[in-house]
Amino acid sequence: MTLIASGGIRTAHDLAKADLPGADGAVIGTAEMVALECVRCGNCESGRGCARGIASTDSELADLFDEEWATQRLVNLYHAWNVQLVEILQQCGLSSVKELVGRTDLLEHVDYSR
Ligand code: SF4
Repeated sequence: MTLIASGGIRTAHDLAKADLPGADGAVIGTAEMVALECVRCGNCESGRGCARGIASTDSELADLFDEEWATQRLVNLYHAWNVQLVEILQQCGLSSVKELVGRTDLLEHVDYSR
């Protein structure tokens, strides 16, 4: 069985926090969309579609979307997360993201009510 976490994965720290209780991987669609300058307006399927051309079947709007620019933005996102994950792994004394999976002993409950 493979467990995939989804929802609220916005940073590399969120990814690590999903892995610690046992997730083997995570869906990070929203962070990727925001990296492409999606403003989360929710109009993807309304009218002609996304005014930014991100999610549109309208060829005029789709032409606004520069695939080369978008690819570089995603590469930048994954690179930044990779740097952060390496820092997290070093802080935990681990050498791979797979070693995070199921390490509930590394989780600590922080009580903000005090
Ligand atoms: S319409 Fe475009 S900017 Fe708005 S949520 Fe959809 S993809 Fe994002």
